[in-house]
Amino acid sequence: MQVGPLLMLAACGGNGSSSSVTAPGTPTLDSAAAGDTQAVLAFTASTSGGTATTYNGDCSATGATTRSVTGSSSPITVTGMTNAIAYTCTVTASNSAGTATSASKSVTPVAASSAPGTPTLNSATAGDGQAVLAFTASTSGGTATSYSGNCSATGETTRSATGSSSPITVTSMTNTKAYTCTVTATNSAGSATSASKSVTPVAASSGGGTSTTVDTTTLPVGTSKVITTVPTDAGYLYLCSTANVSAGNPGNSAQGWISSDGTTWNLQTKSLYSVSGAVSWASTFTNAIANGFRKLDGNGLPSHTTGIYKITNETSPQAYQYDQNPNYILTNTIAWSGLNPNPTVNATPTCLSTGAVGVFLTGARMFAAFDAKGRDARAWEVTDACEGHPAPGGAYHYHSMPKCGLTADVTGQHSAVIGYAADGFAVYGMQGDAGKTIANADLDICHGHTDTSVTQYHYHTTETFPYTIGCYRGTPITSHN
Ligand SMILES: [Zn+2]
Ligand SMILES: [Zn+2]
Repeated sequence: MQVGPLLMLAACGGNGSSSSVTAPGTPTLDSAAAGDTQAVLAFTASTSGGTATTYNGDCSATGATTRSVTGSSSPITVTGMTNAIAYTCTVTASNSAGTATSASKSVTPVAASSAPGTPTLNSATAGDGQAVLAFTASTSGGTATSYSGNCSATGETTRSATGSSSPITVTSMTNTKAYTCTVTATNSAGSATSASKSVTPVAASSGGGTSTTVDTTTLPVGTSKVITTVPTDAGYLYLCSTANVSAGNPGNSAQGWISSDGTTWNLQTKSLYSVSGAVSWASTFTNAIANGFRKLDGNGLPSHTTGIYKITNETSPQAYQYDQNPNYILTNTIAWSGLNPNPTVNATPTCLSTGAVGVFLTGARMFAAFDAKGRDARAWEVTDACEGHPAPGGAYHYHSMPKCGLTADVTGQHSAVIGYAADGFAVYGMQGDAGKTIANADLDICHGHTDTSVTQYHYHTTETFPYTIGCYRGTPITSHN
């Protein structure tokens, strides 16, 4: 592949396009300052001759390897030198017509008297297979001669990258895995490592709006992904405590829409067993920001019609044979205050408890996708056609995106906000940038991400488990119902 361009360049030269370029004049090496295994060469370009396209700093010494570094302007830091040896350094200006080398200066690198102070890792920003580590050098201790960024994750190869200044981009990371990253400052006297930050690389969203068609006849049953430890991969549900496997509604143990081996379920078949009816409710709901905080208020009743609850053999015999939910839909006041409109992404996520973890803009609650037995709630529990049902106490709620009462997604566009989690982060529909259908691989361990359309961290709903949020990426408000 290199042969073609080189031949073309030669041909262009033959046509005379480079004949107007003249070689650069001789640069002036103003100073060569000694550092720890390095020298900083400050120089001035010549005012005569052609413009240099590159400058090379070269330092040589008897018995030591000659070190060269290329740059485009002054100063150039030549690294990898041996301390306590006298080097002779020059700067050479180059362009396509020729080169010119400065007079030399002598410099003797000296060892640092003390190890660098501890750098501060300010941020670890997720990219596609990579993380960008932005840091600040310590103002105490010796000067670092190099920095290394290191990211490790359970079961994954630790990745490292070195640099001389912030930021450092660590590459070859595995998307959707939660990594712990640090930055280490080093000089000849020692090293110091920053506190760590957590980051989960995510695949780049397709710019073409290509949608993955989710096969809703063979959705994975997510019960095995309901865990009580911090997830290390996307697609999990992080609970605060183990569920009571003997709990649950009577009769919901032999669903005809779950495969015989229990690993997949069929949404199309399950919808045939939805709770019947079209009951209207006097829903009240407001979403407002006051005094810098978001406040969600309402009576907990949905803005759309629901099925007839409780489930009886008279009103919904098809549902009753699988789920005999005995609860009625009742008013359950929502008075959530103190939600941060600009929440912070925490390094360590927070687990989810039983009950509401958010509120949808339908005015009713979002529960995480586990039932009283700790199973995949959307796969196991019977709902109405809007995918909602009442809890003990009457709170109407969903374990997945409401299928009623929300603004429909627009082809080719990122979904709109459809609700808020208790940590203040917004919940969006099932489409990412350019209308691409969001998959777990596009999201982090809490089922959220940032993308081009929505640069603030946000959650997405998906057709596949865990459907809504997997954990809290921010700090949830402590009192909500
Ligand atoms: Zn439920
Ligand atoms: Zn998004």
